[in-house]
Amino acid sequence: MTDIERRIEAVPVKHRSMYRKALAGELSPRAAIKVKCYDCVGWERWARTLDGQRIDNIGDCSVRGCPLWAVRPFRMARQSSQGLEAGTSVTELAGVEGGDGPGL
Ligand code: SF4
Repeated sequence: MTDIERRIEAVPVKHRSMYRKALAGELSPRAAIKVKCYDCVGWERWARTLDGQRIDNIGDCSVRGCPLWAVRPFRMARQSSQGLEAGTSVTELAGVEGGDGPGL
């Protein structure tokens, strides 16, 4: 079994088709980012804190250093609560000048 086949086997069945399409380059960049974010959070979008509050593992992602953070799915509610505009660029978020941006 190859490394890629092992990775595919580790993906929950309900996400496996999209994962295969992402690997084959058959998804839009936006859809491929969504698959990557699901992969990153262990394929579980929702979690609960110890006091029972529901957390959106992707929309509420706090890894601001991730190159996908500014374009991750389900981020709109999070950005609204932080007072950020939906079109805020990566360089604006990072506080750096110039750069090519993600180009998505
Ligand atoms: S934006 Fe967050 S959830 Fe998505 S890949 Fe980056 S760290 Fe993972």
